[in-house]
Amino acid sequence: MCGIVGYIGYREAVPFLLQGLKRLEYRGYDSAGIAVLNGTLSVVKQKGDVAKLGEAVAASHADGISGMVGIGHTRWATHGDPSDRNAHPHLSMDGSIALIHNGIIENHAALRTELQQHGYLFQSDTDSEVLVHLIDHLWKQIPFIDFESAVRQALSLVEGAYGIGVLSSREPDRLIVARHGSPLVIGIGEGEYFVASDAAPLVEYTRRVVYLADGEMAVLSADGFSLKTIGNVVQEAVVTELDLELDEIEKGGFEHFMLKEIFEQPRVMQDVMRGRVLLEEGAIQLGGIMDMLDELRMARRIIICACGTSWHAGLIGEYLIEEFARIPVEVDYASEFRYRSPILGEGEVMLVISQSGETADTLAALRLAKENGVKVVGICNVVGSTIARETDCGIYTHAGPEIGVASTKAFTAQVMVLAMLALALGKDRALGPDAFLAALGELASLPEKMQRTVEESEVVRGISGEYTWAEHFLYLGRGYNFPVALEGALKLKEISYIHAEGYPAAEMKHGPIALIDEEMPVVVMVPKDASYWKVRSNIEEVRARKGKVIAIATEGDEEIAGAVDHVLYVPEAAAFVMPLLTVVPLQLLSYYVATMRGCNVDRPRNLAKAVTVE
Ligand code: GLU
Repeated sequence: MCGIVGYIGYREAVPFLLQGLKRLEYRGYDSAGIAVLNGTLSVVKQKGDVAKLGEAVAASHADGISGMVGIGHTRWATHGDPSDRNAHPHLSMDGSIALIHNGIIENHAALRTELQQHGYLFQSDTDSEVLVHLIDHLWKQIPFIDFESAVRQALSLVEGAYGIGVLSSREPDRLIVARHGSPLVIGIGEGEYFVASDAAPLVEYTRRVVYLADGEMAVLSADGFSLKTIGNVVQEAVVTELDLELDEIEKGGFEHFMLKEIFEQPRVMQDVMRGRVLLEEGAIQLGGIMDMLDELRMARRIIICACGTSWHAGLIGEYLIEEFARIPVEVDYASEFRYRSPILGEGEVMLVISQSGETADTLAALRLAKENGVKVVGICNVVGSTIARETDCGIYTHAGPEIGVASTKAFTAQVMVLAMLALALGKDRALGPDAFLAALGELASLPEKMQRTVEESEVVRGISGEYTWAEHFLYLGRGYNFPVALEGALKLKEISYIHAEGYPAAEMKHGPIALIDEEMPVVVMVPKDASYWKVRSNIEEVRARKGKVIAIATEGDEEIAGAVDHVLYVPEAAAFVMPLLTVVPLQLLSYYVATMRGCNVDRPRNLAKAVTVE
């Protein structure tokens, strides 16, 4: 959620801060601000986007804001409305300390009352502002402590989640950052340091980074940094090499990141399988979970926990693992799981799925499982993310940075990982050698089929143009395509703000059929599989009530064209890989409908990319 950047070194901080905030825009935010230190602190902050902030920065001082130390923030409001005064950075009353905060201070009300009793006046409604006054208060109240200790002491009084950056004109040669729950990474330059919520703002400047672990605090100056726990225990900084290219986080000729990411999917499928699906050896090799493979194969039950789109991938995972490995699977929303006295025991394994690897609810479910002695396997996209680090083992999706807020390529990469996992677990069990090899062949031929599917984008665009008026959409599918129906509906509502619902096709007559009339477009996944004719009957039921049907059907099924309003074809494939094809036209449909309605598809309203609050 939201973004943090910071700079200390020998060059002007402002260009990095603004550019860095721009690179973090995809995380979702409502206001932005920067503070730069040059003798005194200058702050510019306001509601609105980073481009507007850039204009305000240029306009606010005749000579522009100047300084070699600075912090910047994009806010996703949790306490107090999105407004100029609630935007970060927040200043201490004497203007000598500036602070940015990502997360939630849970005991802010008690701290605020206490500080008010000491005469502190608050300028904002945020929970974050208590922290800047608390640092100021402790620094003034406790004799002989320095900036670092004041921040440390303040953090020890705070409950909740945070990533913070703090500057002070009283000790102008340092930048202090700390994290507890919200990610932070330090980029190491020559005589300069960069800080950001994720690696995207750093790639242009350095490849050497240090990911802060939970509960760590770093004090940066132009010529070095120290890393300690918030409890003041020195930590060894592990420097890692950034594996990220600039063009991976830029649009590469596409109008939106979302479209670029939809088109990247055939390549992503190859990346996910590379070195893992070994066609010639007739094997699947998942290095990350090698040590736990036997335990997984013997599991009494696998519990999949996730949120949003990852939860839909989890549902497909349930079908896959139960079909191929015959292990009982339960799929839970992480937020529900953690609060409903779940039964966790011997012989169970948890599987958590999160694109960002920072999803707060999923992280909490993971921790709960570990507390109960249950091993946890992670499926994440962001390398080095908190979930990736806290799980016992895991499989990266290797989808590359996903910038569009609505997930596309990360979803298909998750499903591909789950398919590989299910096959690896099922090999020599429910899956005999021939069936296993046939399944590998299906995976190997998928990228080319997916390529053919994305190339149909113009057909999807044409159909989309006919439905921009719709206020509601229904999505139907059975078996492996039921979660795809859910995902198609979610995609449409996320970016076009059209109300949409996904249902198992056969469930339609238990309620949603009441909604069908000539103004209800119904998207039906009807590939040639075992339930083909059953779904065809569902289509008849929709048509009898004048609903408009957009069918996603198998190439060669010419006959269906006479029974529906529109058909989008996908290549023939085994049922278990079909979701990876049928979801593509649904992604494109929501993209085109949304852009035609004038929506900002890369940054839809109210949504954030990494949901780091529960
Ligand atoms: N809770 C803080 C606020 O509402 C920070 C939110 C964020 O993470 O951007 O200002």
